[in-house]
Amino acid sequence: MSKPSVSFEFFPPKDLAGSFRLWDTLNVLAPYAPDFVSVTYGAGGTTRALTHEAVTTIHKSLDLKVAAHLTCVDATREETLAIAQTYADAGVKNIVALRGDAPGGGAFQPQEDGFQNSIELISALKFAGDFNIFVGAYPDPHPEAASAQQNIDYLKAKFDAGADAAITQFFFEADTFFRFRDACAKAGITQPILPGILPIENWTGARKFATRCGAHIPAWMDDAFEKAARDGREDLLATALATEMCSDLLESGVDHLHFYTLNRPELTRDICVALGLTPAVELAEVA
Ligand code: FAD
Repeated sequence: MSKPSVSFEFFPPKDLAGSFRLWDTLNVLAPYAPDFVSVTYGAGGTTRALTHEAVTTIHKSLDLKVAAHLTCVDATREETLAIAQTYADAGVKNIVALRGDAPGGGAFQPQEDGFQNSIELISALKFAGDFNIFVGAYPDPHPEAASAQQNIDYLKAKFDAGADAAITQFFFEADTFFRFRDACAKAGITQPILPGILPIENWTGARKFATRCGAHIPAWMDDAFEKAARDGREDLLATALATEMCSDLLESGVDHLHFYTLNRPELTRDICVALGLTPAVELAEVA
């Protein structure tokens, strides 16, 4: 099994305690030499300034490639493109271009003068400048997809509009990704599709989130986490499951893993170690 390249997703801190937590997370995970890290854009566009600050601070302070998430929610086309331009001006060329959802998780309501969907945003970014554009992809079809095929066709349309690579929503079984990868290849998609891995910090929370975003939950997982909770070994189970799934992915030709860290580095670190990645010197030791 070859060693993968990795990337890590963070969310922007909302307060001082959150800033320290993000710094700690970066400190633990940066030594695993990620290809890039990304910073989310709060649902409903609620963290516009915080995302910008986190992205530009990481870009300026650390030797890491950063991708800024950007959605179409609650902004005019001009406002959205202006945000992208501020990233370009700061030297950040990587954008994760998304449609987004309504604040509170409801159905997306496009503004009349805003981007109507992710494809419009991708096309505009491609036209506006020299961006490297990541997009979202859904191995378990997105809840709004009319069918599994339409889910793939829509991803193909995003690549045709100028996307460079896709990062998937998390999924719980490697076969889900393999089926999706095969269907994408059949549809003529040749660009990289990076599997998104969610280390399960908390099964109740992960389950709720999975239900909301349409990720299939295998029946055995409830049982497994219930038993693990009784013995206080949920972290061990989460690490073992994610490591096993990542190993299956790597053995079947995947060469990059994107981790949803939730700004908690321990499980992601343990999975990286279990996969054979060795840390370089920690940031704190360099400073
Ligand atoms: P799209 O791919 O544009 O749409 C999803 C699906 O809906 C399509 O595959 C298609 O089947 C259907 N669909 C949508 N529009 C149309 C249309 N006009 N015609 C026909 N079918 C259509 N959300 C945030 O708020 N902030 C973030 O930082 C964030 N980061 C994310 C990172 C990743 C890697 C992923 C996978 C998701 C992220 N999300 C984030 C969640 C995302 O905003 C939601 O999943 C949202 O519902 C879809 O956004 P999208 O750009 O992926 O959707």
